[in-house]
Amino acid sequence: MDYLPIFLDVNGKKVLVDGGDTAAARRVERALSAGAYVHVFCPNMSNEFRTLRDHPRVTHHQRAPEPEDFEDCVIAYGASDIEARDKRLYEMAKAAKVLVNVADVTQYCDFITPSIVDRSPIVIAISSGGTAPVIARILRARIEVMLPAAYGRLAAFVGGFRDRVMDRLKTTESRRHFWENTIEGQAGDHFLAGNEAKAEARLLADLDAAATGAETAHMGEVFLVGAGPGDPDLLTFRALHIMQRADVVLFDRLVSDEVMTLVRRDAERVYVGKLPQQHTMVQEDISELMVKLAKEGKRVLRLKGGDPFIFGRGGEELELLAAHNIPFQVIPGITAASGCASYAGIPLTHRDHAQSCVLITAHGKDGVLDLDWERLVRPDQTVVVYMGLSSVGILSEQFIKHGLDNATPAAVVDNGTRANQQVVAGTLGNIAARVDQSGIKGPALIIIGSVVGLRDELKWFADSSKESFQMSLQAQESL
Ligand code: SAH
Repeated sequence: MDYLPIFLDVNGKKVLVDGGDTAAARRVERALSAGAYVHVFCPNMSNEFRTLRDHPRVTHHQRAPEPEDFEDCVIAYGASDIEARDKRLYEMAKAAKVLVNVADVTQYCDFITPSIVDRSPIVIAISSGGTAPVIARILRARIEVMLPAAYGRLAAFVGGFRDRVMDRLKTTESRRHFWENTIEGQAGDHFLAGNEAKAEARLLADLDAAATGAETAHMGEVFLVGAGPGDPDLLTFRALHIMQRADVVLFDRLVSDEVMTLVRRDAERVYVGKLPQQHTMVQEDISELMVKLAKEGKRVLRLKGGDPFIFGRGGEELELLAAHNIPFQVIPGITAASGCASYAGIPLTHRDHAQSCVLITAHGKDGVLDLDWERLVRPDQTVVVYMGLSSVGILSEQFIKHGLDNATPAAVVDNGTRANQQVVAGTLGNIAARVDQSGIKGPALIIIGSVVGLRDELKWFADSSKESFQMSLQAQESL
């Protein structure tokens, strides 16, 4: 280890920053957040200082620092970007025995400024010893994703019970177990979900049980989580966090393999997927299984493609849980309409094209196409059809029959947001034939409306094989 990591107390103390641009502003910000009085030396502060310059603990000097400015100073930052000025700053700091750091000039640094993840009171500092700051920053981003924003508050919350736990649990080991179970268990979950009262009740009940040696017969919990349309980068932080802590995961066919690799490795996996017409597990069985697992005290992750509350039967799955008083949480995901439209370059609304957007399914409870056509063929509206691939022919016919022009743009997005995304674009008049020829298998979403035409200009995501397929179609058509 080339550097000694320490966390320095600068609260109420003086910190000197030489410079008025971005690098200086970042250092001022950080020193301020640790409670320092910051003296900034520069003729003019850049826009970066907009919110900093009036801070009550900032003093602005429009000149270069002089030796007397280092008096009572704990650390000095150089960020002027002027070689001679940096050198002078370093020499003055040395003479005054003040620790100094000059941005990007290793020989003028007594210490380095780590990348930090701030979940105060938890602070994580990452350093590459100055050799590869970019790696430190990438690591930081990864840790940011892993730690929910409320984690710092969780630390403060559990800190409030420290004395009571000390009092009641006499051995270090019993306290360690207790804290692990609390923070990673239901009390922690409740707190991170914003329910402090429940978290406190759970913590106190667990403490009682631990102190009296009683068995804690925990009820588990179910997390109904939206996994998005496929690209794992479209998961929410909260989804990822829960995925990494699940005991058992129930997933279906729409959850992409890439997303599944992010589930905690040790979690038991249960495939409850349905292929159309081939029910691996019926809805009631899935709900009953969740009830059973939760009653065993498991943290159950029910992972669903897209958003669980949009054509996801999320509501139906939760009803049985509610009836059994099983605690549950719902974590939204990016629904296929939103993901596919974005990755296909089709804005679902646009002031010149569509003021409304309707999401429908072409797959009713008993499989028939019974739609409110009058509501669907309105002008200035985009219609998005879920589960409609096998009925694209009859759907387009019906749209035309009920009044839409057969030249209305339409697109089918297959495997949207995934590496094998394909977009078949055309009009109501020819989309069914084009889909037929493309051989796409789904999952696929149909988008109907003049917004589809914007794709020519706005597409940005490289579809697999689609371009060549469409080019060959166009070539055929022009023959
Ligand atoms: N709850 C999901 C929808 C489930 S219904 C959501 O919010 O997205 C299943 C239908 O969603 C599929 O038949 C298809 O129409 C659509 N779908 C889901 N993922 C998709 C994807 N990656 N690409 C295209 N369509 C998708």
